[in-house]
Amino acid sequence: MPELRELYQELILDHGKRPRNFGKLEGANCQANGYNPLCGDKITVYVNVDDNIIQDLRFEGVGCAISTASASLMTEKCKGKSLQEAETLFHLFHELLTGEVGEESAAELGKLSVFSGVKEFPVRVKCATLPWHTFRSALQGIGEVVIKE
Ligand code: ZN
Repeated sequence: MPELRELYQELILDHGKRPRNFGKLEGANCQANGYNPLCGDKITVYVNVDDNIIQDLRFEGVGCAISTASASLMTEKCKGKSLQEAETLFHLFHELLTGEVGEESAAELGKLSVFSGVKEFPVRVKCATLPWHTFRSALQGIGEVVIKE
């Protein structure tokens, strides 16, 4: 049996190499660009919101394995969720990377919990949160987000 930690790494590597929901979303009604100057990650997040629900969510860009995997898992997780649910997930994910989350929150995050190990590497935290900040900016009608040091 591989260690849990290795499974986590595998999931990140898999999504980093073969991102899901990658490519432009035609007809998106929200979008934003994100840039993380510390690593050079660049991302565009496309969202289609209708009736308070995230109907579709895609991204494209160039980034490291962490930012790509984070974006990929984020799109899988948030598709079909309400705007409120997405906002809650954003906060939980942020908590996961900057502090501790309880069992209940970890259960809600599901696969996204694999990023908890990233908090040992503060520079990488910015890579993991970039897609989420960009996603949130898109929903708020902010077209551009740059991660600060
Ligand atoms: Zn990065």
